[in-house]
Amino acid sequence: MNVPFLDLKRQYASIKGELDQAIFSVLSHTKFILGPEVKAFEEKVAEYCGTEFAVGVASGTDALLLSLRACGVGPGDEVITTGFSFFATAGVISRLGGIPVYVDIDPDTYNIAPDKIEGKITPKTKAIMPVHLFGQCADMDPIMQIAKKHNVKVVEDAAQAIGSEYKGKKAGSLSDFGCFSFFPSKNLGAAGDGGMVVTNDTEMADLVRILRVHGSKPKYYHSIVGYNSRLDALQAAILSVKLKYLDEWTKKRREHAALYNAAFKDLDVVTPKEEEFNYHIYNQYTIALRSRDRLRQVLKENEIGHDVYYPVPLHLQECYKSLGYKEGDLPVTEQKAGEVVSIPVYPELTGAEQNFVIETIRKAV
Ligand SMILES: *Cc1c(COP(=O)(O)O)cnc(C)c1O
Repeated sequence: MNVPFLDLKRQYASIKGELDQAIFSVLSHTKFILGPEVKAFEEKVAEYCGTEFAVGVASGTDALLLSLRACGVGPGDEVITTGFSFFATAGVISRLGGIPVYVDIDPDTYNIAPDKIEGKITPKTKAIMPVHLFGQCADMDPIMQIAKKHNVKVVEDAAQAIGSEYKGKKAGSLSDFGCFSFFPSKNLGAAGDGGMVVTNDTEMADLVRILRVHGSKPKYYHSIVGYNSRLDALQAAILSVKLKYLDEWTKKRREHAALYNAAFKDLDVVTPKEEEFNYHIYNQYTIALRSRDRLRQVLKENEIGHDVYYPVPLHLQECYKSLGYKEGDLPVTEQKAGEVVSIPVYPELTGAEQNFVIETIRKAV
């Protein structure tokens, strides 16, 4: 049985009428840049996340870039982050001339280990950027305490975590800035690139709004140099439709995750650990095992889609050689990079498909 890792055609089929109508509406009124759909979607996301403001930008990467820029990160500044994430987390720091300072992860959640952060604070530290990896929030209370004590900003990379909760509060609303990605494979995905910054700070929201239009306010007057980074009206129209279904989809993801957890309980496989104060939205369902590469081979032979997030930790990427990290610096991150594999967990996965994935893995391990 061929089980795709993700099949967005099924999602489209389930809401085709509404999506088509939303797209044709934008094509008809032609307000393509920052049109009414963007404003409406921003308001919905702010309400959904429980934040004052939401600012639509061109991608999750740009949400991070503009937030760090708003924090004042510039040449020579240090930003503390995890070694275990998608490259964008690190790339945005470097693009501002900053220096990523990598911290190891918690072995249970794959998120930044709060107790390893404070030792990395220096007079150059401008911000801490935790990542809510796979859809589960990092342990934010200790992180916010450290940030307050040392007067540095916190930017949440919540690209994989819209709808996720920490102690009853939504991902993105837990620090100075929350950054979301609407890359098609994220749990709220556009038909292309898109991103959003959420914040409770009036001035910061205004600054991000200025940064996304070349730094101009009013139009054609530039007190700072910004970017061209806006969420498309077309994408906002699509995302507004999909946001209504997000919680329903998340429930299905969680049901699939619970079924996998039960099915793999007696195997020598590490299943995801959901902290009791968290609400995990399973953007990815990721298991870890020593014989990961052999399992991948079996999955491939059985046409079961899967992927490894992420095979090379950030501190060991070739482009960061000059930072001077070496193997062994972040032992947990490095171990997990060799053991993790993510398997299909999307809402539309059928019972028969999931059973086949379970049986195949049980036989292989
Ligand atoms: C997807 C992702 C990003 C980047 O988002 P884009 O919308 O693709 O630019 C950043 N950080 C993490 C952890 C991601 O998963």
